[in-house]
Amino acid sequence: MKLPQFEYAMPSTIEEAIALLAAHRGEARPIAGGQSLIPILAFRLAGPSLLVDLRKLPGLDRISISREGVTLGAKVRWCDIEAHRQLGAAHPLLAAAVACVAHYQVRNRGTVGGSLAHADPAAELPGIAMTCDAEIAITGPAGSRTMKAVDFFLAPLMTALAPDELIVELRLPPWPGARRWAFEEFARQRGAFALAGIALFYDEQNGVANNAHIGVIGASSRLHRLAAAEAALNGRTVNDDVIVEVAGESAREVDPVDELDVSADYRRALVRALVQRGLQAASTRARDT
Ligand SMILES: Cc1cc2nc3c(=O)[nH]c(=O)nc-3n(C[C@H](O)[C@H](O)[C@H](O)COP(=O)(O)OP(=O)(O)OC[C@H]3O[C@@H](n4cnc5c(N)ncnc54)[C@H](O)[C@@H]3O)c2cc1C
Repeated sequence: MKLPQFEYAMPSTIEEAIALLAAHRGEARPIAGGQSLIPILAFRLAGPSLLVDLRKLPGLDRISISREGVTLGAKVRWCDIEAHRQLGAAHPLLAAAVACVAHYQVRNRGTVGGSLAHADPAAELPGIAMTCDAEIAITGPAGSRTMKAVDFFLAPLMTALAPDELIVELRLPPWPGARRWAFEEFARQRGAFALAGIALFYDEQNGVANNAHIGVIGASSRLHRLAAAEAALNGRTVNDDVIVEVAGESAREVDPVDELDVSADYRRALVRALVQRGLQAASTRARDT
């Protein structure tokens, strides 16, 4: 399908990009990898008068690992995360989730900032941001601000980002080496969006789970954590009975989408199975102590 007509700009500074977005008052859209935006334009779901290409903006393609956690610049691509030598150890949950994103061609262009701004409830990275209580750094005409992921994602494909603001980076909190974690998803084929997925982690002290985080992607029309399932896990010794109980709580708590070809009941059953599988993997995986 042919794209609608639009003007095109390739600014070389963040300030210039923001000025262009601001001058067009909601009629301009940033473009990064184009892997979500171009199909949207092709299907005429958006018709911006100007595309502001972010590719020349400096300083947005850094990956940094420090005591403060992992920071991913907005222009970091899926394949950059995959190729990074330390990320697998520094944030295994992130690495496992990103390994499930799309196909090689998409992974070669799609970016962190594009995925967060697109806010697809089935997308892996927004799910990781929610599960890990990540912060999103944003800059715009009024200056810079950071938002918690839980406040940033408002609804499917909708965020708290103003039309003249840019995502600058994603900041994931520190990841203790001994943490127990799992990422599990079910898709019709490798690289397709998940019908349901879960990201979970917990810390363990004296054999008891605490600080449990369980996030869901794909199953619901919104990204969310399963607070009752987390509560059911906290303070418990993780054994087969507890795993079955928490998986059941997750299935009750999730708010699944009901579609003609994938029913809500099926998605609920998927969430139960994925949480069960995830907790089994997390509780038995060898870990750094
Ligand atoms: C066949 C196919 C399969 C896919 N499968 C998956 C999958 O399994 N999992 C998954 O998560 N994703 C999947 N995707 C989406 C893919 O990961 C996209 O790359 C990603 O969602 C958007 O990144 P992008 O850089 O291409 O953004 P773009 O398409 O360039 O932009 C997407 C949106 O973000 C905005 N934007 C981009 N950068 C910024 C910024 N820095 N600040 C503010 N706004 C910005 C744009 O204006 C636009 O609204 C798939 C895509 C395709 C085509």
